[in-house]
Amino acid sequence: MIFVTGSAGFIGSNFVLEWLSQNKEQVISYDKLTYAGNIENLGLCIEDPRHTFIEGDISNTDKLLKIFKDFEPSFIVNFAAESHVDRSINSPKVFFENNVIGTLGLFEACRQYFQELSEERKKIFRILQISTDEVYGSLSKEEDSFTEENRFKPNSPYSASKASSDHIARSYYATYSLPVLISNCSNNYGPYQHPEKLIPLTILNLLRGIKVPVYGQGKQIRDWLFVKDNCDAQMKIVKEGEIGEVYNVGGDNEKENIEVVELICEVMQAIKPSLSGSYKDLISFVGDRPGHDFRYSIDNKKISSSLNWKPSESFESGLQKTILWYLENDLWVRKVLYKSEKS
Ligand code: NAD
Repeated sequence: MIFVTGSAGFIGSNFVLEWLSQNKEQVISYDKLTYAGNIENLGLCIEDPRHTFIEGDISNTDKLLKIFKDFEPSFIVNFAAESHVDRSINSPKVFFENNVIGTLGLFEACRQYFQELSEERKKIFRILQISTDEVYGSLSKEEDSFTEENRFKPNSPYSASKASSDHIARSYYATYSLPVLISNCSNNYGPYQHPEKLIPLTILNLLRGIKVPVYGQGKQIRDWLFVKDNCDAQMKIVKEGEIGEVYNVGGDNEKENIEVVELICEVMQAIKPSLSGSYKDLISFVGDRPGHDFRYSIDNKKISSSLNWKPSESFESGLQKTILWYLENDLWVRKVLYKSEKS
């Protein structure tokens, strides 16, 4: 039995679907259904008798403890978080409530549950805290990629809240011997990503003939990881990773934001040509985001050598799959946008 939080969000839902397609175990999935959580992301497995969805907040320790006692999960994977940097700049408090106080509530439930487990069950119990490369701060073009040894230097309220949740996870390992693993991954992309994020926003604006905003000159560099590759990595980490360890996960795909946007324009032009000139004409440079990190880059050496994982999707093939998915799922997009506007 595995318990997955944030399961109605982008990566969490992909993870639940991947888990059910590759494993026999039952999945209990849990989500507060914020503006970013969409139960329809789990549509493909909602009828699966191996899957149970429960609505709830990770800060609710009592509720979680009861669920843990009822279902006796062996693995907990925590994807639940507020995840959009721009929103964290406008409304930081909710990020600290969900990502810090929320994570604390979850780890408290895990601690109390773990203490009462038999010695035999303690040996198989594991908690995987999902985090981001953004906790390490920003790199110049010349600096080496982030390893698990890099210092935390978060620059946005989002990354500061994620750094705090990593520290909570680490402290529960060190203080209470809770069997914790932590994973810091780079920018994910793929099906079910909320339309506010760069890649879906670009695809959807191009389709609707709306300008595509690009911060500054679009020179910021991100590493792009196809969501299915990330789910495979997280499955390996929770099953085979060494307790107490941190694993960075990257896509080996560093690109400037403007390159990403231009590539989307080119793929879209080939699949669904613009009726009014070139898609690239819609690119519009806007004032930069405050505190905007210049470059993130992940060194995959640890996870590739110790867990034999490497990304399998090239950026071009992953992007093609992603664009096709958004073209085929316009109703999903409309519902998600409607829910976001209402909340
Ligand atoms: P998302 O915003 O799409 O989904 C987050 C989900 O968490 C939503 O379904 C939301 O309802 C739920 N949630 C939020 N607060 C909650 C709470 N208090 N209790 C229960 N559920 C709650 O985010 P995502 O892109 O799927 O990211 C998942 C995790 O991966 C996050 O921890 C994020 O920091 C991390 N991460 C994401 C990326 C990325 O590129 N998307 C990169 C690195 C790390």
